[in-house]
Amino acid sequence: MKLLILGNGQLGQMLAQSCIQLGHEVLLVNTRSNQVVPAAAHVALPMSIAEAMEWADVVSWEHEQLDPEHVQLAADKLLTDAEKIRPLTHRQLEKAMCDSLGIATAPWNSYDSQSSFLEAMTEWQQAVVIKASFGGYDGKSQWRWHPGDDVQALVSQAGQQPGIIEAMIPFSCEVSIVGARARDGRIICYPLVENVHRQGILSHTFAGFQTFPAHLQQTAEAAFRKITEHLGYVGTLAIEFFVVGAGEQAELLVNEIAPRVHNSGHWTLTGCNASQFDLHIRALTNMPFPELSMTPTLMLNAIGCEQVPPTLWQHPHSQVYWYGKEPRVGRKVGHVNFRDISEQQAHTLVSDWTEALQLLS
Ligand code: ATP
Ligand code: MG
Ligand code: MG
Repeated sequence: MKLLILGNGQLGQMLAQSCIQLGHEVLLVNTRSNQVVPAAAHVALPMSIAEAMEWADVVSWEHEQLDPEHVQLAADKLLTDAEKIRPLTHRQLEKAMCDSLGIATAPWNSYDSQSSFLEAMTEWQQAVVIKASFGGYDGKSQWRWHPGDDVQALVSQAGQQPGIIEAMIPFSCEVSIVGARARDGRIICYPLVENVHRQGILSHTFAGFQTFPAHLQQTAEAAFRKITEHLGYVGTLAIEFFVVGAGEQAELLVNEIAPRVHNSGHWTLTGCNASQFDLHIRALTNMPFPELSMTPTLMLNAIGCEQVPPTLWQHPHSQVYWYGKEPRVGRKVGHVNFRDISEQQAHTLVSDWTEALQLLS
């Protein structure tokens, strides 16, 4: 089939590689310059976006912030209704959607102006996280507040745009489920993986498989099914959760939902026979999903650095993915996957990595 991917960042490029591996043709749209480009090259093709849409059998995206003009041109080649996923680009609507589906999240309320921010804040006697409704990622456009902190000091920033206030969750850890739903409704999910964030940015993911009680996997898969069926979603989707409590008492609270391939699924490039990118393409083209076979894998994000620390590059179980981006503080420029890794080895690699990055920066 012929696939057109909106976006040619690292996610678009990795989707394109799966298209090629699975025998499909693929073109990408550079959504910054609004030009059609081939995979693995940044030269523009002499083809308009409208012509590329015409060429394609299926149109998909690397990121859910879609240009309304692209949505209109793509029409029914976009296999998920863009209007349906709009709540997932707006935190108030995303939370409201979870509430209406009976999916547990952190307690929250919303505000739309500086005055309603002040009013909404009067309801809180516990620590909260304030998040702008639109556009935040890697912990940007978020503010923390603790009882006793000056609310006025936050108004000028947080109150500038609509947003939500949610309880700060004393989570035991953070996890995500990544899975895919095909055109004919078939669903497949990877096991839950653990995500560690530093300064609001995903630092690493450990796919260790044995780590979580079985009921959490069931709850996560049930949420995945409910959400994707509600959205009529086709492709790979990720749900981030907070784990509250431990053992049999542990519960999941949804943090956010990403209707696309996701950083916490990058381990699958090395640790599974079908990556999250493969599953996305298989879902869109209605190919069968393979039986998944996995090996414990650690994914470390390279954040703001010029290069991978050499000791890690040379590790016999490592695979490096580099995005060709200008390094900037807090920017994800690549990741390294380590397969067949025990929990103990993962701890050691994470601390070696953290130390090496400090030396490099
Ligand atoms: P992403 O890059 O994953 O899209 P984001 O900027 O959209 O991130 P969130 O996922 O909402 O932001 O928050 C980033 C991180 O901040 C979370 O993974 C978690 O570590 C922390 N965090 C966010 N909300 C809460 C909360 N209510 N309680 C405790 N920690 C939180
Ligand atoms: Mg987010
Ligand atoms: Mg997040």
